[in-house]
Amino acid sequence: MSTAINAAAPEREAVIDLDAFRHNVRTLADLAKPAETMLAVKADAYGHGMLPLARAALEAGAGSLAVLDIPAALALREAGITAPIFAWMHDPDALFGEAAEADIDLGISAEWQLDAIAASAASVAPRVHLKVDTGLSRNGATEEDWPGLVTAALAHERTGAVKVHAAWSHLADASPADDAVALAKLHRAIEVAEGLGARFELMHLAASSAGIRMPEARLGLVRFGIAAYGISPFDDQSARDLGLRPVMTLQAPVVSTKRVPEGHGVSYGLTYRTAAETTLALVPLGYADGIPRIASGTGEVWINGRRYPIAGRIAMDQFVVDVGDDEVAPGDLVVVFGEGDRGEPTAEEWASFADTIGDEIVARVGPRVTRVYRGER
Ligand SMILES: *Cc1c(COP(=O)(O)O)cnc(C)c1O
Repeated sequence: MSTAINAAAPEREAVIDLDAFRHNVRTLADLAKPAETMLAVKADAYGHGMLPLARAALEAGAGSLAVLDIPAALALREAGITAPIFAWMHDPDALFGEAAEADIDLGISAEWQLDAIAASAASVAPRVHLKVDTGLSRNGATEEDWPGLVTAALAHERTGAVKVHAAWSHLADASPADDAVALAKLHRAIEVAEGLGARFELMHLAASSAGIRMPEARLGLVRFGIAAYGISPFDDQSARDLGLRPVMTLQAPVVSTKRVPEGHGVSYGLTYRTAAETTLALVPLGYADGIPRIASGTGEVWINGRRYPIAGRIAMDQFVVDVGDDEVAPGDLVVVFGEGDRGEPTAEEWASFADTIGDEIVARVGPRVTRVYRGER
């Protein structure tokens, strides 16, 4: 026997609790003081939705916003956000002129970026944050290239093309000792730059991890990201331990149930066999929605106050849950992850189901999932 509801499309929802987010931003901003708080809303605010989260961050005391690139920064400006916005990843075709006109702060890692800003002949000189690579080996000038980058920035400042505002870097979060070495490298690079005549109004290094645990790395500003979304950057402390609240709840209704006998195979490859006669519930979320396929066999979800294991392989659009003899019917709410206060898994737990980090769990929630906001002002 099989039943199905006749809804036009199942309501796959990521419910975003803006009150929880504002609580987290306030908590982190208080912790970081007197350093300022910049809130990272890159990658569509880690999958939560850039604009509502950007607004909520500013309401809760963030002084500025961080996005990856200029198009995201321009989208925030077009939406009416006037706070400082920082963008740091640019390719040679980046819209430096538009960024300057829109008063976007630019992270600068190479001389060609300064030349491109100057060539754009914008009417406003953008503030530049010069980045030194202190060990992560991504963006940022190497120790060898740093004096050249600083000298070029000062030359462009004299012609009015840029304003040299900050020196910064990003940590590898490998160990406290590695991070201490990186901090010392940043201080050394600043000395070198000052020797060349630079005067920085601001220095910044820390993201969530060092912003919470490494006070000496807070400097003038902390760029908080994941912690503000209620996911711990640490293995040995949960967000709850840190006084932070998970912001996203991922949920969908059961779309059908069926009674099957013992030994019944479930989903592609029939990797799961029912241990006894049981009820199977079908959930309309799959790896196209960000449910990691590798969590087939480890993942758990919450239905009607109880947790159940995912049965068999997670597919592109759906997965199956073995609910035993419990009463579960089409339309019942399935919570994949949430705040955890009802007993549902958190995104942190899903990270352990899938052998990844909570950042990836929330950032991968796909475009078929409707973002629903609670606590909007
Ligand atoms: C993503 C990012 C952040 C925020 O990092 P979290 O670990 O999420 O707090 C800060 N700065 C830079 C350069 C980043 O790429």
